[in-house]
Amino acid sequence: MANGHDSSGAPETAQTPQTPAVYDVLIIGSGPAGYTAAIYAARANLRTLVLQGEQLGGQLMITSDVENYPGFAEGVLGPDLMDKFEQQARRFGAEMVPQDVTKVDFSSQPFTVWTYNKQYQGNAVIVATGASAKWLGLPNEQRLQGRGVSGCATCDGFFFREKELAVVGGGDTAMEEALFLTRYATRVHLLHRRDSFRASKIMRRRAETNPKIVIHYNTEVVDVLGENAVEGLLLRDTQTGATERLDVQGFFVAIGHQPNTDLFKGILDMDAVGYLKATVNTMTNVPGVFLAGDVADARYRQAVTAAGEGCRAAIDAERWLEARNELNPDTAEDAAAWGALVETTETRA
Ligand code: NAP
Repeated sequence: MANGHDSSGAPETAQTPQTPAVYDVLIIGSGPAGYTAAIYAARANLRTLVLQGEQLGGQLMITSDVENYPGFAEGVLGPDLMDKFEQQARRFGAEMVPQDVTKVDFSSQPFTVWTYNKQYQGNAVIVATGASAKWLGLPNEQRLQGRGVSGCATCDGFFFREKELAVVGGGDTAMEEALFLTRYATRVHLLHRRDSFRASKIMRRRAETNPKIVIHYNTEVVDVLGENAVEGLLLRDTQTGATERLDVQGFFVAIGHQPNTDLFKGILDMDAVGYLKATVNTMTNVPGVFLAGDVADARYRQAVTAAGEGCRAAIDAERWLEARNELNPDTAEDAAAWGALVETTETRA
C-alpha cells in the first residue's frame, strides 16, 4: 500500500486530501499529540488524515518560547515547533484538513467524521482534541496573551524573574502555579473570588505559608492593564465593591481547563469534568477509537507528554488494525480481547 504517495512514489504535499477513500487512521486534533500520532501512523504506512481544526497547532500556538521541549537546546517558539511537527507528519504522507470536526459517528465501522462541508471515514480514529485553558473573558486578557498574560506557569514562569506577579483561582492549579512562580518572582499575589479556597488542604497550606505569596480573598479581577505588556490589574472587592489597582508584570489565569470533548458526549466514556477515559492502553470504550494528549490528561498537560501519548495511540491503532484480522469475529470488537492479543504477541516477540 503506497499510502500518501503519488504514482511516482513522491510524498503528497497537497493541502487538500484526495478523498473519499476510507483512511486507515483519522486523527482529530493538531497539537503535539495529534501530529505525533500522525508521524507514527503515516510512517507505519497507514493511510492517515489529520483533521487539524481551524485553530491549528493547539495550545502551543499561544505560547512564546518553549524551553523545556527536549532536543531544542536554545529553545523554540511554540508556533515554530508545531510547524515542524506538521512538516514531519507531511513528510511521511499524512494528509491535512484545516477544518473543525462538527460531528462523529462511531457506532459502526468504518467510523465517520464530518466537517462543515465534507465527511471522512477511517477504520481507526485517534482523538487528540486537547483541552483549553479557561479564561476570565476580560476585555484585555486576550490581547495581552503572550505579553504578560499566561495560562501556564510551567511554560512561562521562567520569563518572569524578579517580577511581581498575580495568579487568579482558588483550586489546586492556582496553588500549584503560585507556588511554582515563587521560584522566579519577587512576590506572587493569589487572587480568589471567594473567602475560602477549594484547593486540597496540603496545597492550600503550602500557599498560605509561603512567604512570597500574598493572598487576596473576595477579590475579582475586573481588567488587565497595560498597552503592550501587562502593567497591572484592576481589582474589585466582592464584599464592599471597592476597586483598586495592583501593579504586576505578569498575570497567570489558573481557573481550570476544559477538555475539548463536547463532540464525544454520550459516545466516549469520560469523567465528570469531561476528560476521556481509556479502557485498554490508549483505547477508549469504543474499540478502534483511541485517545492521546490533554483530552485525557488533567495532570501533566505538557507538550512532551502529549507527544508521547500520540506515539502510544498510533502504535495501539496500528496493532489494533493488524489484530482485527487475527481475532475471532465474535471477539474482534472486544477491547479486552485485543489487549490480551497484543500482550501475547509482545510476550512471544
Ligand atoms: P478547579 O478545582 O475547578 O478550581 C478552579 C478555581 O478557579 C476555583 O477556585 C474557582 O472558584 C475559580 N474560578 C473558576 N472560574 C472562575 C472565574 N470566572 N473567575 C474567578 N475564579 C474562577 O480547577 P483546577 O484547580 O484546575 O483543578 C482541576 C482538578 O485537577 C482538581 O480535581 C484538582 O484537584 C486537580 N489538580 C490537582 C493537582 C495536584 O494534585 N497537584 C494540581 C492541579 C490540579 P470557586 O472556588 O469560587 O468556584
